[in-house]
Amino acid sequence: MTTKCKYCFVTGGVMSGIGKGVVTACIGKVLQFRGFKVSVVKIDPYLNVDPGTLNPIEHGECFITEDVWEFKPVFESNERSYRISEIDQDFGTYSRILGIEMHPSHNITSGQIYLSTILSERKGKFLGKTVQLIPHVTDIIKKRLFEISEKEELDVLLIECGGTVGDLESSIFLEAFRQIKLEYPKHTAFVHVTLVPYSKAVGQQKSKPTQHSVKMLQSLGLQPDIIIGRSEVPLAKDIKRKISLYSNVPEKAVISNPDLEVVYELPILFEEQGLGDIICELIDLKAKLVSYNEVTNYSEWVKMVKMYKEANESVRIGMPGKYFNISDSYISINEALEHAGAHLGQKVDLKMINITEDTNITEELRDCDGILLTPGFGERAVEGMILAAEFAMENKVPFLGICFGAQLFFAGFCRKYLGLKGANSTEIDPITPYPVVDLLESQKLIDEMGGTMRLGSQKIIVEKNSKLFKAYKQTEIKERFRHRYHIKERFITKEAIEKGLLISSRDQTGQIINSIELDRNDHWMVGTQFHPEFKSRPYKPSPVYYDFIKECIKFKKQQ
Ligand code: GLN
Repeated sequence: MTTKCKYCFVTGGVMSGIGKGVVTACIGKVLQFRGFKVSVVKIDPYLNVDPGTLNPIEHGECFITEDVWEFKPVFESNERSYRISEIDQDFGTYSRILGIEMHPSHNITSGQIYLSTILSERKGKFLGKTVQLIPHVTDIIKKRLFEISEKEELDVLLIECGGTVGDLESSIFLEAFRQIKLEYPKHTAFVHVTLVPYSKAVGQQKSKPTQHSVKMLQSLGLQPDIIIGRSEVPLAKDIKRKISLYSNVPEKAVISNPDLEVVYELPILFEEQGLGDIICELIDLKAKLVSYNEVTNYSEWVKMVKMYKEANESVRIGMPGKYFNISDSYISINEALEHAGAHLGQKVDLKMINITEDTNITEELRDCDGILLTPGFGERAVEGMILAAEFAMENKVPFLGICFGAQLFFAGFCRKYLGLKGANSTEIDPITPYPVVDLLESQKLIDEMGGTMRLGSQKIIVEKNSKLFKAYKQTEIKERFRHRYHIKERFITKEAIEKGLLISSRDQTGQIINSIELDRNDHWMVGTQFHPEFKSRPYKPSPVYYDFIKECIKFKKQQ
C-alpha cells in the first residue's frame, strides 16, 4: 500500500512516568500551529484488551471517549465484538492539548493484537502458514495504524509507545515501527523521550542514562531523530552536546523538557527550540495556511498560557477519595478544576484526602472552600465519603459530586434529611434496608467484565429551573458516562422534594436520573451521574466545574 500520511513515533527511555504523553501531545500541537491535521495513537503493551478493569491505583484514571467502539478482533468476519470506550488516561492529555476527540480504536493494546492474531488463525485467515510474530503480528499492528491514518485523512499520525524501550512486551511494536520506516523512509520521524537526572553530589546533569537507552533502541534497529530530555531545569549546553555526540543526533535536535508550572506552556518551549521545523524537515512537510482559532493558533495559545500563569488568587478544594496512592487517579478532574479556576483568575489548591479508618473527615474539610466528591467503585472509604456530603449540607460548603460522588451525596441526603438510617447503594451494601442507589435495569443480566458498564456519550435532558441549567444554559446536553448503578427515583418522595432535593436532569427515556442538586439559594450542591471533566479543555472549561469554582470563590469571601 502507499501512504500519504506521515508518522511520528514517540518512545520512552530510562523510566516510565516522565510525561511521554504530554510530550507526544505537545509535538502534535506544534504541528497544529503549522496547520496540519494530526491525531494520536497510544500503544499499551499490556495484555488487557482495554484498561477498563485496571485498578486506578495501579494504572491511573480511565479516560472515556464519546463513542463506544465495537472492536472486532477478526477483520471482515461476523465473529463477536467487544465494546470499548474506556481508554488510557493519556488520551485525556491529548484531547486537552490538541482539542480533538479520538476514537477508542486509537488505543492499541497487546491484548487486542494477540486476540486478533489467535482468533484470525482459528477463522483460517492465515491458512497454510505458520503464524509468527514477524510478519503476522507486525502486519496486524501496521494494519491498525494504516487504517486510522487513511480513514481520518491525517497529515501526521503520532504514535506513542507505552513503557520504556527494552521492555519485552513492547518490542514487537518497535519492530513494527522499524518496518514502517523501512517501507516509508521519508514518512517517519523517531522521537525518544528520556530522563536527564541531576546529580546533586556532582552538581551536574547526567547524560549516561540517555546514552544507555539510545543504545538499547539502536540494538532494535531504530535510530532516534530527536531526543527530548526530561529534567528539572533546561538542559545545559554541554549536556546537549554530549547527548548529541553519543546518540548520533544533531545538537539542535536535542530538546529540553524542564519542569513547568503550567503544563500547557510546553508547546511554546518546543516552538522556541525549533522542534516544529525540525520535524517538518525530517518528514518533508510544507507548512499549511493556519486558521485563526483558539485551539490551533499559536498566538491564541500563548495568550491562554499567560492567563494560566497570571491566576494569582487561590481556592482550596477538598477532594475526599480513595485512589490517591498515585497522583493520576483523578487527573481529568484535577485538570477540569484547574481550567475553571484559571478562567476565574484562581489557582486551585487541591487537598486530596485519602480516606482511611483513621481519617477525621470533618476536621480535614474545615479549611476547604469547596468539596469535590470523587468517582469510584467498592466499599472502601464510602462511609467517610458520605460523611463529607453530610458535612457539605450542614456547613453549606459548595459541593460537586461526580458519579459515585453523586450517588453518595444522595445516600447522605436520605440519611440526614429523610431519616433513612443505613441508606446506601446496593454496590456497597446489598442488604441495605434503603437501597437508594441500585443496579441499572440494563445491567441486571450482564455477567462479563470489561466494557460492560453504561459507557460513552449520552444525551441529557436538563430541567430548566436548576443550577445545572444555569451552568449549561441548554436544555439538552451531551456528557460522558461510566456506571452500573443509579439513583432510584422511588426514594425521591414528596418529603425529599420538600427538603430541597431536585432532579435536575434525566436521560432521554426519562428512566435514568442523570443529576441531582439541592434546590436552595444559599447552598450550591450538585451531583452528576456523568463525568463533565472528560470534556473540559484548557481554553473552554466545563460549565458545571466553572460554576462550582465560582461558588467556592463566593464561599471563601464570605468566611
Ligand atoms: N461504582 C459506581 C457505579 O458503577 C460509580 C462509578 C463511577 O464513579 N464511575 O455506578
